[in-house]
Amino acid sequence: MNPKLVFWVPAALRMSFVLFGAGLAWFFWGAAVGLTIGLLCMAALVVVQLHYLYQLSAWLDNPDSAKLPDGWGAWTDIFSRLYRLKRGDDRNRTELTEWLARFRQAMSLLPDGVVIMDDVLFLEWCNPAAERHLGLNLERDKGMRVTNLIRNPAFIDYVILGRYEQPLTLALRERKLIAHIIPFETRRQILVTHDATESERIEMMRRDFIANASHELRTPLTVINGFLEIASAQPNLDPDTRAAHLKLMTEQGHRMQNLVEDMLSLTRLESEDFPLRVEPIEMNVLLNQILQEAKALSAGRHDISLKSDGPDIHGSPEELRSAFSNLVSNAVRYTPEGGSIELSWTQTKSGPQFAVRDTGIGIRPEHISRLTERFYRVDKSRSRETQGTGLGLAIVKHVLLRHHATLAIDSKPGQGTVFTVKFPDGALP
Ligand code: ADP
Repeated sequence: MNPKLVFWVPAALRMSFVLFGAGLAWFFWGAAVGLTIGLLCMAALVVVQLHYLYQLSAWLDNPDSAKLPDGWGAWTDIFSRLYRLKRGDDRNRTELTEWLARFRQAMSLLPDGVVIMDDVLFLEWCNPAAERHLGLNLERDKGMRVTNLIRNPAFIDYVILGRYEQPLTLALRERKLIAHIIPFETRRQILVTHDATESERIEMMRRDFIANASHELRTPLTVINGFLEIASAQPNLDPDTRAAHLKLMTEQGHRMQNLVEDMLSLTRLESEDFPLRVEPIEMNVLLNQILQEAKALSAGRHDISLKSDGPDIHGSPEELRSAFSNLVSNAVRYTPEGGSIELSWTQTKSGPQFAVRDTGIGIRPEHISRLTERFYRVDKSRSRETQGTGLGLAIVKHVLLRHHATLAIDSKPGQGTVFTVKFPDGALP
């Protein structure tokens, strides 16, 4: 119904009723009685209005705890409309609070940092990632100027110059950060930070790998090209020199081939397109083949033995053969003539283990943690002399990672080295 009618019709009816009663009294008992009754009724109406006004004022003082009265006359409608408004407001507030909680949770899970500042760079809010990236603490730093909190000259210049179209790369707290300020609303700005440390590290590894691989390939190529130039410039070289050159060129060709094969193996091991193909492995058969290969490589220069009483396992026979062969061929290549090499496959309390023990040149402790890096060599010339590519232990590391196994290296310079591959107990992947 029309609200005006809801208000005025009952009020007019009540007033007419009072006037009509007072008129009747005047008619029957005279003017004094009629006026008195009329005034008393009006006073009663005023008292009722004041009572409900008071109730409304009390409710407005504390709308959450005080209860709205039912009311009388037009007050019934006013109170019920107020009640409906309040219910809607409560619902909106609950929704807003829930939404804010969800927003905060989403922001706290973001890997990127978000800082909200006012137009003069006073910190208003930031998420946990921003606290980590920039060393902020929202509770402690709220209301402080961001340039006083992030005391980095590049950042301060960025803010002063206000060239916000481009992000800024920052080295901060041993991290590589990409920071970007985006103005929003009229008097606020948002600072977004992205931690690029890991991607930068991967990019650096990629660059190093390409530089190392190019360098490794360039050396044999230079040698081969050199001999080819000699051969074309001096067609009548004596047969002995020619044979010596051909031998050296063949060696360099093999070196390049080994390098390319090792690089391809590493790429395959790292690629998700080549998942591990697991099958049962007869360890005795595999280890005996590796023993024969080691003997062939050593050509009788070492005493090589195998002790195998460990269990058969599941894994990729090709990958494990490649990892174990790398360890064994290293032992042969880094053990001087007359030394001994022991291969063992045993079951221990923590799981099966493959160990290669040699009495070779050994490795100084400062090199041990870096040995599985690509192209890392203790002695570059010795590695090349023995046809090493510098990728063998990197391949071992990747194969073992795929088999949930670990590599332990124990070495004494001048006395020898033990490489131990430890497999987890129970079923392999
Ligand atoms: P490389 O092809 O040069 O042998 P690896 O990755 O197989 O490359 O080995 C890395 C380095 O670790 C080698 O250059 C060598 O210095 C050292 N190394 C590996 N195995 C042995 C070992 N059994 N004894 C001494 N040094 C070793």
